Amino acid sequence: MPPLARAFFNGKIIPVEDAKISANAAVFKYATAVFEGIRAYWNSDESKLYVFKLVEHSDRLVRSVSLMRMKSDFDSDYYQNAVLSLLRELKPALDLHIRQSVWLDNDGSMWADSPLGCVVIATPSGRPAGYDTGIKMQVSSWTRINDQIMPARIKCIANYHNGRLASMQARMDGYDNALLLNSRGKVAEAPGACFFFVRNGVPITPTVTSDILESINRATIIQMFKEQFGIDVEVRDADRSEVYTADEAFLCGTAAEVTPIASIDRFPMKKARGEMTRALQEKWEAITTGRDKAHPEWRTLV
Ligand code: PMP
Repeated sequence: MPPLARAFFNGKIIPVEDAKISANAAVFKYATAVFEGIRAYWNSDESKLYVFKLVEHSDRLVRSVSLMRMKSDFDSDYYQNAVLSLLRELKPALDLHIRQSVWLDNDGSMWADSPLGCVVIATPSGRPAGYDTGIKMQVSSWTRINDQIMPARIKCIANYHNGRLASMQARMDGYDNALLLNSRGKVAEAPGACFFFVRNGVPITPTVTSDILESINRATIIQMFKEQFGIDVEVRDADRSEVYTADEAFLCGTAAEVTPIASIDRFPMKKARGEMTRALQEKWEAITTGRDKAHPEWRTLV
């Protein structure tokens, strides 16, 4: 779907087609950019738009900028206001996927650290593919980057070449998405989402030291399991062969929301969309739109 007609670009709201970066910018030479993906949910009963976890995403963007040794005066408030000023001007009455990006705009050397640019683009967005039916995953022959190579826990765009290669391989081989193992051979995550599976009624997810992104929604799901269902998630290393025999499994993330997994390497999960996955999806839909009033601090009213 095309994005909304205007974007936040270096402090101004301008037509999307005018939001341009020089081909001579450092970002084009060295992929020196970091970003966030955020969702906003339209509540049609209240005619209100809520941005989900805007503060947490903007805080993570600050960490990404810092870890990539980019120097910036932008703080979390700046990134939050960039999103809110755009949405308050455009007044969209629909669900959106919002991308905040910060890039190194210098035309200089590899060790340039400033100046930075900031752009926010919002795109109408529905539920992810396979939300009702479940998706087919392939354990990739690509290994997830590790923390001695790149900081896997943040969203720097260069990390995404690893996930893109895995995704392309999965699609060419007839699957919907990839599941990457880390350099220790343990389950890490999908190219753009974190991974949960359920065995004998216990939800399990890899640790944040498994070379996964420090996902906001993974943390939310762990909290929701506890608060909504009284279930503790086991956070630990996971083997490839144990996920093959899961009762149910799902991906979580801003784009993925809660996407059920029907099979992994053609091993079918006991349920393509299990009871826990379905229950989480329902809670997710209610809380993100504000139909369920739990955790008002998770939603920023536009
Ligand atoms: N892993 C990767 C590599 C991602 O790109 C994403 C999406 N941002 C996730 C996990 C899920 O993260 P979050 O819940 O913060 O959206």
